[in-house]
Amino acid sequence: MTTATIDVKERAMQTNPANPFAPRPGLKIWLGNEVVPVEEAKISVFDHGLLYGDGVFEGIRIYNGKIFKEKEHLRRFAESAKALRLELPMTLDQVSDAMHQTMRANGITGDGYIRLVATRGVGLLGISTLHTACPTIFVITDKISLYPPEVYERGLRCIISSLVRNHPNSTPPRVKSLNYLNNVMAKLEAKDAGADEAIMLNFEGHVTECTGDNLFVVRNGEILTPPTSEGILEGVTRSLVMELGRKRGYPVHEKSLVRHDLHVADECFATGTAAEIVPITEINRRPVGDGKPGRITKQLTQDFIAYRDSL
Ligand code: PMP
Repeated sequence: MTTATIDVKERAMQTNPANPFAPRPGLKIWLGNEVVPVEEAKISVFDHGLLYGDGVFEGIRIYNGKIFKEKEHLRRFAESAKALRLELPMTLDQVSDAMHQTMRANGITGDGYIRLVATRGVGLLGISTLHTACPTIFVITDKISLYPPEVYERGLRCIISSLVRNHPNSTPPRVKSLNYLNNVMAKLEAKDAGADEAIMLNFEGHVTECTGDNLFVVRNGEILTPPTSEGILEGVTRSLVMELGRKRGYPVHEKSLVRHDLHVADECFATGTAAEIVPITEINRRPVGDGKPGRITKQLTQDFIAYRDSL
């Protein structure tokens, strides 16, 4: 692909050339039952979250000082932990309190982002969960890095990744685990190809999702998205967008899709907490529809913004 892709590093370099990706000084982190300065927020090298990716997380938005879809995110957090038999040492109300405390400590009254993480905690070097003590939970609240506005105007250029999405009966993509290597490698492949994003197919060649967003196509006025059984994260934004589509009167279906469905789609878009709704206008060098963000994609974006701003 010849066109320029989004260069986050370039933008970060402009803010802090010495260490473009250093956390913001003064940032406060919730860790081990208290809020501490980011410099003191340290995790042991014996933490199984680090050693084995043994843990779960959530990425959550704050709009106008309020946590967006908090109940849904907490539910998924608890479900992910349950799937891994990771016993959270706090109730979900306490987790919610921790998130609000962190927001207050960082003076977030407008928009922001929360990263909520639970790891298996410190243990012996073996993988056994029996030799770990207590899960580590931490909360980061910060500004969110977004796709620049021009991406929403021109749409994402995607490749279809050569990497197979994790099998639903292996490391299930429905579990938002700390093991994101499948996604990381696909994103790397997209960048190497000069694309913005990668669409991943599963072991049967069915469409799943992007590396950090769910995927929708529109054809003949129908809004379609793969079912969770294909191996996708059950996105909070995905559920809301399905609801908004139905409210507009469009048929919305969970349907198995293959590569050809992407090539013949009238519209395509991705959904996620960070990206919200972002049009996809090119897939494997083929324009999606007329190569511009689609009409229904734009309508859903308007509805999403209206919903978000009404809360
Ligand atoms: N798929 C993957 C793999 C994700 O990591 C995410 C979250 N970034 C999504 C889909 C979108 O989920 P949500 O709308 O809940 O953010």
